[in-house]
Amino acid sequence: MSHHQILIVGGGTAGITVAARLHNADPKLDIAVIEPSDKHYYQPLWTLVGGGIFRPEESAREEADVIPYGVKWIKDAVATFQPNENQLTTRDGTTISYEYLVVAPGIQINWDKVKGLKEAVGKEGVCSNYSINTVGSTWKFIQELKEGTALFTQPAGAVKCGGAPQKICYLAEDHFRRAGVRDKIHVMFTSASPRLFAVDKYREVLEKVAARKGVETRFRHNLTEVRAATKEAIYRHMDTDEEIVIKYDMIHVTPPMGAPDFVANSELKSEAGWVDVDKYTLQHTRFANVFGLGDASSLPTSKTGAAIRKQAPVVVKNLLAAMQHEPLAATYDGYTSCPVVTGYDSLVLAEFDYDGQPAETFPFNQAQERFSMLMLKKFGLPALYWHGMLKGRA
Ligand SMILES: Cc1cc2nc3c(=O)[nH]c(=O)nc-3n(C[C@H](O)[C@H](O)[C@H](O)COP(=O)(O)OP(=O)(O)OC[C@H]3O[C@@H](n4cnc5c(N)ncnc54)[C@H](O)[C@@H]3O)c2cc1C
Repeated sequence: MSHHQILIVGGGTAGITVAARLHNADPKLDIAVIEPSDKHYYQPLWTLVGGGIFRPEESAREEADVIPYGVKWIKDAVATFQPNENQLTTRDGTTISYEYLVVAPGIQINWDKVKGLKEAVGKEGVCSNYSINTVGSTWKFIQELKEGTALFTQPAGAVKCGGAPQKICYLAEDHFRRAGVRDKIHVMFTSASPRLFAVDKYREVLEKVAARKGVETRFRHNLTEVRAATKEAIYRHMDTDEEIVIKYDMIHVTPPMGAPDFVANSELKSEAGWVDVDKYTLQHTRFANVFGLGDASSLPTSKTGAAIRKQAPVVVKNLLAAMQHEPLAATYDGYTSCPVVTGYDSLVLAEFDYDGQPAETFPFNQAQERFSMLMLKKFGLPALYWHGMLKGRA
């Protein structure tokens, strides 16, 4: 059995940011990251890949290159946790023990919760920005559509970056307009939620954006099936339970998501299956030597990389304090951010906290659509990610 002082589960946004910050704080710490994938993705770029602005490969780096030098990479996946024994078991059957554990394996995409989707996605007008394997098909189908109905969906429950399902709808609408086919295409955005965005300040602006663009919005519509042969999307109405059928010519599906099964089946789980952490200290509610952050955590905020940028320093400060048997002084206020792309030259930069109160970075009204903020998303934020966040510097 191998042993590490600090074991990190998941080498995605949260895992690497925490590993880098811990290593910077004390290079003598014995840290290992368990991550099965060869590649690390900057997923926020997938919105722009779907809109044809970047190629899929531009969102990827070798995992080996993002693991901080001096931190051990265990190329395996965690299968089960035994937190009472301070150990876990990997899919290869190896048991690894730890003094401190950080759990950050992200959110699980549940493609099979929509009947027919797994078989259909990537083919004949069915696309999704939510996987590196399918994001290329989004731009292909947007470009190919010359007439008919373009449908965009948002499922019930938590998804990565709550605004992302809308972003691709607005980009597609803008493309149709620029390609001269907009008047032959009916653009629809359907959502299981009751409204376009959770925070009123940004919701009011986004409602005007959808109206200006002539996007038909339908709420409380939860996609349950894609019938690829007849190009039909089947919905359940969240309030009336009525079945609704909408014909499409292209459909962008945001698949249902949830806690990873191996977390939801473990002793670390919250009632809803997430890694059960204190919403301020990010320490596990029952196991004091376990911390959790990112999409897999129970934190009641919108699941974004931007939120992780504020969570990671809190985990690191509190974990180091716990190692010194000191009180956990650092707290996370629920900050998250969602840059809602509203077209090829505009973006609304939503930033807010646990109370849904705007927590804006810039000294201007960020609810306004701006070209400068789109430039920030295209060039500034990716640079901040690769060179700042993943190096533990931002
Ligand atoms: C289309 C799209 C648009 C987005 N737009 C934005 C945006 O504009 N702004 C923003 O801030 N965020 C955005 N996000 C969200 C952001 O990408 C995620 O919130 C962030 O990547 C979550 O980080 P994480 O570390 O929790 O999970 P991830 O980065 O997904 O990493 C999880 C890692 O855990 C690994 N893993 C999984 N299972 C196991 C296991 N059993 N054992 C070990 N490792 C495992 C995975 O391989 C993966 O590398 C977007 C996401 C998508 C998909």
